[in-house]
Amino acid sequence: MKPCGWGVPYSVDDVLRIPGDAVLETVRGYRIFVDGRLLHEYSGRRLGDIVDKEAFIRYLLEGVDVVHVGVSPGRLSEYSLVVDARGHAAYPGRKALALQATVRVEPPREEIWVYFYSDLVGYGWVFPAGDRAAHVGVGGLAGKEFLERRLAELLRTVRGEVVRVSGSPIASGGLKPGKGRLAVGEALGAVMPLTGEGIRPGLISARAVYESIAKGKPLEEHLKTSGLALNVELQLRILSLLEKSTPEERVRVFSSAPLELLERVTAGNVEPRELLGFSLRYPAFFARLGLKAVARG
Ligand SMILES: Cc1cc2nc3c(=O)[nH]c(=O)nc-3n(C[C@H](O)[C@H](O)[C@H](O)COP(=O)(O)OP(=O)(O)OC[C@H]3O[C@@H](n4cnc5c(N)ncnc54)[C@H](O)[C@@H]3O)c2cc1C
Repeated sequence: MKPCGWGVPYSVDDVLRIPGDAVLETVRGYRIFVDGRLLHEYSGRRLGDIVDKEAFIRYLLEGVDVVHVGVSPGRLSEYSLVVDARGHAAYPGRKALALQATVRVEPPREEIWVYFYSDLVGYGWVFPAGDRAAHVGVGGLAGKEFLERRLAELLRTVRGEVVRVSGSPIASGGLKPGKGRLAVGEALGAVMPLTGEGIRPGLISARAVYESIAKGKPLEEHLKTSGLALNVELQLRILSLLEKSTPEERVRVFSSAPLELLERVTAGNVEPRELLGFSLRYPAFFARLGLKAVARG
């Protein structure tokens, strides 16, 4: 029931292979707009997938015996293992807000459209959503009325029959494991703070929880070795840069950010050993993120 654009970057392959019948569309291109003006477009290699989330969850649960029982919070201590998977409601950090409409329209084929705005730390999107449908949404660090206005503008651009509009807060303050607490997905903050991408980070966090239990080591350690902690941190830095920027500076950030780096940061798969190379190729951008120390090696 939770609103979701169902988009996953190609880096999901590092976690698991999504079965073909749970893939609605393979994304091979994008168009990026800033304040309505087309800034970049690309088409070519596979960039990610739009997944049928229900079919994907059914696949993940194959062979698993799921029993639903109500447990009062006061009795949780009677259980030997408790993993918090309650989503954003249980997340203790900062949250963004996102609104999304499901629209009956001929959707973009094999591409996604992304809309940045100089007056929003966040973005809008149009993602294909299967047969003659698209998800049109906007999210970020802004209030409901602002996002409603922006969504209405986007819907005028897309022009289709709106079937449903829904919204939800999104964890956007990074990973918050907490001492001795086991949590997965949004309850943990396993959401990329800049892009709001939560499906793949949720899978990574579940694996980290599994390894923490199996190996008896703190969850933080496994979140670090999975690479999730570093990639969340990089997105947090960009988010903070955008927050500190004036609208004019934000446009400059969007226009001058190196595409090679942005594609990797948004795919959430930058590896620690690559940081030095990136920082040497793009020293000015790295310095703006407060990562000068990396640039010096
Ligand atoms: C508009 C929007 C678009 C998005 N688009 C994308 C996208 O394109 N790609 C992507 O990767 N991510 C996207 N996300 C983020 C993604 O949807 C979430 O990060 C992801 O769903 C989090 O999964 P989760 O299982 O941790 O939490 P949830 O999906 O929120 O699931 C938590 C569940 O716990 C249940 N629950 C809560 N409290 C209790 C309780 N006390 N007892 C029992 N159950 C409880 C809730 O009802 C819910 O079913 C989007 C989010 C929004 C809001």
